[in-house]
Amino acid sequence: MTLFPDMCERVVSESIIGRARKAGKVSIVITDIRDFAGNKHNKVDDMPYGGGMGMIMAAAPIYNCYKSLYGEDEPKPHLIYMSPKGKTLTQKRVVELSKLDRIVILCGHYEGVDQRVIDEIVDEEISVGDYVLTGGELPALTLTDAVCRMLEGVLADDICFEEESHFAGLLEYPQYTRPAQWLGREVPEVLLSGNHAEIEKWRRLQSLLETGRRRKDMFRKLKLSEDDRKLLDGAEKR
Ligand code: SAM
Repeated sequence: MTLFPDMCERVVSESIIGRARKAGKVSIVITDIRDFAGNKHNKVDDMPYGGGMGMIMAAAPIYNCYKSLYGEDEPKPHLIYMSPKGKTLTQKRVVELSKLDRIVILCGHYEGVDQRVIDEIVDEEISVGDYVLTGGELPALTLTDAVCRMLEGVLADDICFEEESHFAGLLEYPQYTRPAQWLGREVPEVLLSGNHAEIEKWRRLQSLLETGRRRKDMFRKLKLSEDDRKLLDGAEKR
């Protein structure tokens, strides 16, 4: 639910998510809150009570828009309001959300949304980080993209995301492609060896090292296996 449907439609029509939509792997419907303004000037915002800068999105158009999205005898879809006051999005929450049948995302704009409609219909508030954007569209698209790529058949192979940063509490190992030499920099030899067991070990070690170097908070939470310890000990001795 947005006041800027074209901005959203464009993004979800491109690349991997666009292809997944066309292939029927996921359905994404962008709804214009303005269609539910309910007044002849299509006004959807007003000045804040108590004074102050900017405009506030009014409760009724958002409420009517949301109500139009499900039938009387259908269950209420999980409604997420993108907000800088919400819980910061994590991969763990993305995976949980990807298991829901249906999600509705409310994008705020201007100075935000009348609190009463948040209290009335919103199930969860999610932030994309401790900074403020002009609207909830980019955060909603971020959430949509992250959730959609977890759905079956959207990526070519589940391995695509299982080895990626954050999925298992680790950062990904460094990746390389052709040519094997570029500006005097070489691809690590093991990756050219064709020895898959050694490549797997190298990748696991690099993931552990990257996480330890860049994200001590994540590294501390890892449950290291015997093999992980051996890999790390070996790297320390080298
Ligand atoms: N006045 C609000 C405040 O101080 O909390 C900020 C309003 S912001 C300018 C307008 C809209 O952008 C919000 O209603 C929200 O939907 C969205 N937004 C801005 N920053 C966001 C963030 N970090 N995460 C999620 N949504 C955000």
